[in-house]
Amino acid sequence: MHEMALAEGILEVVLSIAEENPVKNVKVQVGVLHAVVPDSLEFSFQLAAQDTPAAEAKLSIRKVEAIIQCNQCREMTTQPKPPYNCGSCGSADVSFSAGDELLVEAIELTDGTMIERPMSADHELIHDHLHDHLVADARGVEGSEVPRSG
Ligand SMILES: [Zn+2]
Repeated sequence: MHEMALAEGILEVVLSIAEENPVKNVKVQVGVLHAVVPDSLEFSFQLAAQDTPAAEAKLSIRKVEAIIQCNQCREMTTQPKPPYNCGSCGSADVSFSAGDELLVEAIELTDGTMIERPMSADHELIHDHLHDHLVADARGVEGSEVPRSG
């Protein structure tokens, strides 16, 4: 149930943005590399948010596909699901340019105020989790903008 750890990270960010105001909606971006089950994440968030200003908040989860840079053929491909090998030559020797996001995009307060201040809800625990499940050192550039072709 690593969704609980992610939910707690999200909650922390939401509460810091909301500053005690009651929250209605939370828009999050979750990279597919987190292997999150959306229902489970939402459930975990509701549990974590009990007795906080975000107790009634609904989570809208947007999945972000993995963008894979091949270290063999240098092609850049996207993959919506595992295995995260190169979509061009099939090599497993790849770096990820996207797909490990965990981002609170925006929150909406119960009075209708939208606060769009994208903030990462990522922390060490999540990276440890990723390293457990992915080839070591498979992750490449962090947080850099990647030109999307096509
Ligand atoms: Zn390749």
